[in-house]
Amino acid sequence: MKSNILMILLSVSALSCAQEAPKVKQVSKMKPKTELKGVKVVNTDDPVCHMKTAEFLKDTVIYKGKIYGFCSDHCKKEFRKSPAKYALK
Ligand SMILES: [Zn+2]
Repeated sequence: MKSNILMILLSVSALSCAQEAPKVKQVSKMKPKTELKGVKVVNTDDPVCHMKTAEFLKDTVIYKGKIYGFCSDHCKKEFRKSPAKYALK
């Protein structure tokens, strides 16, 4: 059943960075290690997928002394690949 697992993984990663707001809000399944609600990030939108960080903040990266917020681990990874492309000027 290898292909089944692959399909699930693919659909999960495709959903993890949806452009639109997710229909089902995940509340407690994957709690971040640190509480991110009070964290001030420099970007109001996720620079990768443009979701609102105030509503969808899941992860942060500190780049050149600034805290950038992201909706998902996927977007964080994208940012890390080419931070210069996404970072605020
Ligand atoms: Zn995102």
